[in-house]
Amino acid sequence: MSTSDGLCPCSIRSLRWRGVIEEYRDFLPVSSTTPVVSLLEGGTPLIEAPRLSARIGARVMLKIEGANPTGSFKDRGMTMAISKAVEEGARAVVCASTGNTSASAAAFAGRAGLTSAVLIPEGYIALGKLAQALIHGSRVLQLRGNFDQALTIVRELGEKAPVTVVNSVNPYRIEGQKSGAFEIVDQLGEAPDLHCIPVGNAGNITAYWKGYQEFKEAGRSTRLPRMHGFQAAGAAPIVAGHPIEHPDTVATAIRIGNPASWEGATSAASESGGGIAAVTDEQILEAYRFLAQEESIFCEPASAASVAGLMTYGLPDGLGPGSTVVCVLTGHGLKDPDIAISQIQVPTVVDADLSAVLEELGLS
Ligand SMILES: *Cc1c(COP(=O)(O)O)cnc(C)c1O
Repeated sequence: MSTSDGLCPCSIRSLRWRGVIEEYRDFLPVSSTTPVVSLLEGGTPLIEAPRLSARIGARVMLKIEGANPTGSFKDRGMTMAISKAVEEGARAVVCASTGNTSASAAAFAGRAGLTSAVLIPEGYIALGKLAQALIHGSRVLQLRGNFDQALTIVRELGEKAPVTVVNSVNPYRIEGQKSGAFEIVDQLGEAPDLHCIPVGNAGNITAYWKGYQEFKEAGRSTRLPRMHGFQAAGAAPIVAGHPIEHPDTVATAIRIGNPASWEGATSAASESGGGIAAVTDEQILEAYRFLAQEESIFCEPASAASVAGLMTYGLPDGLGPGSTVVCVLTGHGLKDPDIAISQIQVPTVVDADLSAVLEELGLS
């Protein structure tokens, strides 16, 4: 079967996804001569969450950013940052990272033939993310310090050495990450009423708000969502109103005490009529288990902060059963298997015979 343009019906056409830059070129600072470095990032699923919807009392949808090539939304910004770095003649890139930025930088830099170095906080990086940075050939330095200290050093490196910084202080990162909002509008046919998102260094909430605004200005949507950002209670500088010197949370991807895009986050919240609030590690882990067990979506703990916020605070005034809520699930659960295993019973060991298995399963 084929459509009038000779192509297969829509489901197979999605296999023609060309990556963030090619799909949204008109909205990005690229020219026809920009060398596009892409792993076909973006184009991630927006999936209904029926049990969460029933619990919240609105239509809740999940944006599965773990489906990106390196397993997190960081790829959306990295395709832009690395493409522009190559265009500008860079030979090496560097970043500070709680893990996912380093995984993405390592992969995209490698793809472009650039060398990369990453600074990560010693002892607070999920195993999967460390594995990615290493296997993609990045020079990995584990800093005796936290993310905020790593970012300070990386910014100085960018000024003193011939390296391009690919943290979200690099404006091209935010540009690429806007595409998440574009996709949500394209997938829903309209902007949602409420957008829930974890907040760490605050680049992503800044980028989504920019993306929603640009699509509305271009006539691709008729409204803007309220932006609700959620920080982990032990790492909630924006909620507290001051930097946190020793941020602490199980959600290592948002274990950040002094966000680089602080102002972007507060503007997104205030301009949209939304807010920034905190969720405890217990609330984060409850949402994390709920998503895995009730919706069969395995995300990493930081990602579950968006759903934890929605579950904890409920719908804001004025929204009800007819409303659409999008929660961004920023990274894949496999990034951090240690947390998953700590949350559930360890597997039972049985003898290698049928009767032992039947008995253990209660089927004998
Ligand atoms: C980077 C990251 C975040 C935080 O995003 P910011 O742009 O730093 O606010 C949240 N979740 C995951 C999985 C991440 O990798």
